Amino acid sequence: MTDLLHSPRQFAGKQYLFASDFDKTLSFNDSGYVLSELLGIPLEEFERKATGMANLNLVQQGGELTYLLLHDPEFHSRVRRDHLYEAGRRIRLKKDIDLLYEWLYSGIDGHQFDFYVISAAPVEVIRAALEGVIPSDHIFGTEFRYHASGEIDTITQGVAGYGKVAVLDRLQAELKIAANRIVYVGDGSSDIHVMLHVNQRDGFTIAVSEARHIAQIAKRTVLSSSALAVLVPILEEIAGWDRSRIRALFEDRGLLIQEWEKVQTDWLTFSNGRAGERAGKAESESTAVASSSR
Ligand SMILES: [Mg+2]
Repeated sequence: MTDLLHSPRQFAGKQYLFASDFDKTLSFNDSGYVLSELLGIPLEEFERKATGMANLNLVQQGGELTYLLLHDPEFHSRVRRDHLYEAGRRIRLKKDIDLLYEWLYSGIDGHQFDFYVISAAPVEVIRAALEGVIPSDHIFGTEFRYHASGEIDTITQGVAGYGKVAVLDRLQAELKIAANRIVYVGDGSSDIHVMLHVNQRDGFTIAVSEARHIAQIAKRTVLSSSALAVLVPILEEIAGWDRSRIRALFEDRGLLIQEWEKVQTDWLTFSNGRAGERAGKAESESTAVASSSR
């Protein structure tokens, strides 16, 4: 497929910008965990530091690893550029990212998508992980400047939180694509800003996890170990296809959809005590979360 990657586009249909998060959207495990393991830093320690920072809102969401690499003595003193490449090579990717890239690139039913990755992870990690699958100039991540020794000097581009919006806006302008022709896929809190931004301008957002805040914002949620699953909401909502036609497309291309379960989740929280009965019941704050499906 490599000849496909840089061949000029010759497509008469509708063109879209398909932008995807990396950690836990295209991969199973988080870059920070893989890197910590590689550096010999206990995972619990990374988790404790990252969660602590997230709780304090100290850095943009998704920028926790960047902060640690820059400012935490343990991470900063140990990590070298080569560790970032090596961590990328160790990351377990979701299946069929290569097929997703090819199918989107070659177009489906008059819809063609340029696939970009926009992630807060260090760009070296993502490029190494997706080498030969996605062209490196389609990958945007956090960028550092390095000392000659390989030690990180400083950050030159941050892509966490609102930083994703900035990269997406820049890409949209360069590719000259209308705001309602943007598709964004993500899994977590670092994708909230960018998904709100895309939704507000009539783009399309897909969550690939049931993490509460993100699943509520995204227009559709799809869960699968294959990256190709995001094509289902795209074909339904953008191309207007029905399920049988989607199944047939996958079968034509040699892939059988084994299971397709459609579930709608409602998130509810109850507190004890009804309006007017609140006095004296302030202590009864038990909550329950229920979900219904159909
Ligand atoms: Mg993620």
